[in-house]
Parts: sequence; structure tokens; C-alpha cells
Amino acid sequence: MRPTGKLHLGHLVGALENWVKLQADHDCFYMIADWHALMSEYKNPARIRADGLDNVVDWLACGVDPERSVIFRQSDVVEHVELAFILGTITPIGWLERCPTYKEQLKELADKDIKTYAFLGYPVLQAADILIYQANAVPVGEDQLPHLELTREIVRRFNHLFEKKQQSIFPEPQALLTKTARLMGLDRRKMSKSYGNVINLSDSPEDITKKIKTMITDPKRIKRNDPGHPEECNVYKYQQVFNDGRTGVLSVECKKAGIGCADCKKELSEAMFKILSPIHAKRAEILSKKGYVEEVIESGNKKARQVAQHTMAQVKKAVCV
Ligand code: SF4
Repeated sequence: MRPTGKLHLGHLVGALENWVKLQADHDCFYMIADWHALMSEYKNPARIRADGLDNVVDWLACGVDPERSVIFRQSDVVEHVELAFILGTITPIGWLERCPTYKEQLKELADKDIKTYAFLGYPVLQAADILIYQANAVPVGEDQLPHLELTREIVRRFNHLFEKKQQSIFPEPQALLTKTARLMGLDRRKMSKSYGNVINLSDSPEDITKKIKTMITDPKRIKRNDPGHPEECNVYKYQQVFNDGRTGVLSVECKKAGIGCADCKKELSEAMFKILSPIHAKRAEILSKKGYVEEVIESGNKKARQVAQHTMAQVKKAVCV
């Protein structure tokens, strides 16, 4: 996860809930991708370190368990960059220029000057992030499949060039496709902290209430007595994710104008408090233990380095360095 700000509900339902589940039957590596953050934030990198620490507080508060998973910082495991360089020597530029997410990111981050050497090569660093742990699987959404395919292509090229006589170092990582709820921002645009349309995991109940009050509802429901169309309402989409047990009733009531949007939003706020209060309590507990998060990361760094160094020794042997 790139540490570029506070984590919000999109991170919770789009990644963290799945991360927590995966711990049950996988050896998971969860990384503060600070080199990736630097690629877009290089003009203003001061927040990267603090954001990384704060993100890990959220991971732990949501149930990522440092006893079961390796939680570490990318820049503390130098082998990522070392492997990225070697993979970069065999990755044709055309593969990177064709990468659909590269073009999308250029558009999405149009306010940042990211037409750089490093940014063009970020899928190579991502490949290294995966392959340095000889990972079998990567939890991705469908939109990230092209990236994973690029990693798999790089593996095949590496094997073709360097591993004719020996056993493959890198398995071709498989996608662990996970169906996650897709939430739009509070204003129905894409969730983005730059649009200010997100609810952060650490927002206070007062802030959550305030933000939910601003949410755009069914545009066709102008007056309280107008029947609503829940399927066209962003608040209803949030109800489906955070207040699922009540969506049947709310839909019926909305359609016959039995409930007003203010009450519907109030109910959503309360449902959200129920989900976020334990996370807030856990956050407070973690933050009260001075130095705990740094210790978790340092311990994860050690475990990650061990695996990464083992992989790099094999890689250097294969490429005869
Ligand atoms: Fe949306 Fe709820 Fe208002 Fe219906 S009552 S339009 S679901 S906010």
C-alpha cells in the first residue's frame, strides 16, 4: 500500500478486510510501499514516513496480525531495488509504455509531474516486490490484472534467459481475485483524498456524521414526500456495504417516501460507528504503546530481509554476477 495519506473506507472494504482473511491460510507479506509513494510525491516527500506509520496503525487496528503476517517497509529491504534493476535490464520499454495502468495513472495524477524514468518503470519495481518473496499469489482487483500479467511475462523472460539448466527461482504468481465492494466517494466521484470525498478510518463520529450529511442522494428525490429510487442513491450503496441487514426495509421505505433522507443518513452514520468504533478503540490502544508500531515494522523488516536475501543470492548466481 502506497503511504500517501490517511486510509479511508475504500481501503477497508477494498483491501484490508481481505488482507485479514488471507492470514488464515496464507503466509502474507504486507508492505508500506514508500518507494512507490516517492515516485508521485518526490516534490513533497515529508509526509511519506509519517503516513506509512499511520497506515500501519490502521492495518493493525483492522486486524492485520504481526504474529501471522510480515509487515514491513519497502525502503528498509534494499533487495527490492536490487532485483528491480536486474529485472529492468531484461524488460523492454515497449512493455512498460503499453501498460494500460501507466496511461491511466498519467491522467489520474495529472497534477503531478510523473513523466519520469522511475515512474515508467514502476511495474518493474512492482514485479520485484512480488518476486523477491517468490510469491505464488497476489491479491488483486480485476483492474490490476495487467500489472500481474506483466510480472508473469518478466518471469518467463527471466527464465528463458537465465535458467536454462536449473530450476526456476520465481514461480509465475497467480492472481487471488477477490470480489470487494466498490464504493464511490461521498460526492459520487471516484474516492480520492484530493477531492475530499472520503471517510477516513480514523475520523471521529462527529466528522463521520458531518460528512454523511453532505452525501448526494437520489437526484430525482427533491422533496421529502417524493418517492425515492434507492438503486440510484449513493447513500443506499453505502447502506448495502455497512448496514446490509437493513437494506430491504430501507429500500421499501424509500420507495414509498416512508423515510426521509436525513433519517436514512442518520441510520447509516450509526451503522458506521458500530463498525469503526472497535477500530478506533484498537487505534487508541496501539498509539498508547510508544514505539510499538516501529517495533512491528522493524521485526517485519528482519523477516522480509531474510527471504529477500535468500532470493537475491539465487538470482545473482543465475545471472552470473
Ligand atoms: Fe437514498 Fe436513503 Fe434518501 Fe432513499 S431515503 S434517496 S436510499 S438517502
